[in-house]
Amino acid sequence: MKTLLRIFVLLCSISLTAQDTYLHCGKLVDTKSGKILKKKTIIISGNKIKSVESGFIESSNNEDLIIDLKSKTVMPGLIDMHVHIEGETNPKSYLEDYTLNDADVAYNSVNYANITLMSGFTTVRDLGGSGVNVSLRNAINAGKITGPRIFTAEKALATTGGHADPTNGAKRSLIGNPGPKEGVVNGIEDAKKAVRQRYKNGADLIKITATGGVLSVAKSSQNPQFTVEEIKAICDTAADYGFHVAAHAHGDEGMQRAILGGVKTIEHGTLMSEETMELMKKHDVYLVPTITAGKFVSDKAKIDGYYPEIIVPKALNIGPKIQEMFGRAYKAGVGIAFGTDAAVFYHGDNGKEFGYMVEAGMPEMEALQSATLTNAMLLKMENEIGQIKPGFLADIIAVDEDPIKNISTMENVTFVMKEGVVYKK
Ligand SMILES: [Zn+2]
Repeated sequence: MKTLLRIFVLLCSISLTAQDTYLHCGKLVDTKSGKILKKKTIIISGNKIKSVESGFIESSNNEDLIIDLKSKTVMPGLIDMHVHIEGETNPKSYLEDYTLNDADVAYNSVNYANITLMSGFTTVRDLGGSGVNVSLRNAINAGKITGPRIFTAEKALATTGGHADPTNGAKRSLIGNPGPKEGVVNGIEDAKKAVRQRYKNGADLIKITATGGVLSVAKSSQNPQFTVEEIKAICDTAADYGFHVAAHAHGDEGMQRAILGGVKTIEHGTLMSEETMELMKKHDVYLVPTITAGKFVSDKAKIDGYYPEIIVPKALNIGPKIQEMFGRAYKAGVGIAFGTDAAVFYHGDNGKEFGYMVEAGMPEMEALQSATLTNAMLLKMENEIGQIKPGFLADIIAVDEDPIKNISTMENVTFVMKEGVVYKK
């Protein structure tokens, strides 16, 4: 059915008498004004939105497709700024670093990409994997497989022994000497080379691990792991290629260095001080909260053997603190970019983040705006996605209930269209 629809849309776009799709929307989230509009028709031609009309408009051309979403709330496709589309949590995942070939990772990632799209996320920022993520992005763009539009960091950058050093936890004979090519940076020259290598490998942006992390096989979850000079060299070089930089950070010192070094987003932000919140605002840096991941790791750490022993105390300490910090950062006026860290929990559960954000004090509409308008702006796609507006790409989803009245409806997206193609109905 999916393939048929794709062929149908393809034929539409090349035929002279173009067929359009009419979506009859009971409610429509206007992300720009922050209002819920009633009884609207979205007319889609090819991969773009042609117009948005009041009332339920019927087409005079019986070739056109009419889709009834009168009982639903319709909104722009969602954007998740923090996923790892190559993998997914399971108690064996640490062993899999040494047993899975790239082809195995690739086959798994096809499934994760599809699940992500079906849960309403039509665009994601992939914050690091092995490099399969670049091929996955290309395969989706070429229409070979179904998935969200991907912006990928390819391989995250770390310092030796840092959160994204790919050989952490391995026995010494397997460690070798990973360097900038593998995403391990020590010093300014390495930093430049690692960024240029990501460009060569096909990345869209750069991710650094500015502090220790929870799930790496290493002791600290929060120590600073780069110097400001190294981060500045990464950010300056990244700018040469039009890349922005995302920084994983739990500890406050590493976060401050990342902000001063020039990153655009802070991922997690767990131990953020009031002073750092002010610094975020001053430098126009956005927080990507990942509350869902924090809750998941603190739950699973209570299960004997789910994580290696060195990870358990870190997960129990860091995990539960993210939501509370998020509430304070939001109230302090820090910019919030919706992002979940899917892969740390199960792909497809990304929508849970909305409920956690609202629970911490963010109004429902603002949570929706953060996953659409704000993220589109950060990805420099603000004239193409994040709104339902003429000329924009037809990335459109629907849920059964009004999310302003029941935000948990975001966990169950029942209609998905990406670039005019219906994937779920
Ligand atoms: Zn992550």
